[in-house]
Amino acid sequence: MLRERDDFEPGGWQGPYCRACRQPILPEQRKTRIEFSTDRYGFKGLTGDYHAACSRPFASMAAIINMRPMGH
Ligand SMILES: [Zn+2]
Repeated sequence: MLRERDDFEPGGWQGPYCRACRQPILPEQRKTRIEFSTDRYGFKGLTGDYHAACSRPFASMAAIINMRPMGH
């Protein structure tokens, strides 16, 4: 399938990147922020912004992880 649009430069994008597919989240795309209790600052690449469509498996993963008390 050909891309019909190519109006952003992969190297020049200043906006958020989807943590799941690692593509830029364009202004017209729906964005979801997911926070993992095990990765509060996003160092592990989990907490952050996702495309709404990409976020679903991560949202359920976060729900499970965030439910668990950590520190063991
Ligand atoms: Zn994505």
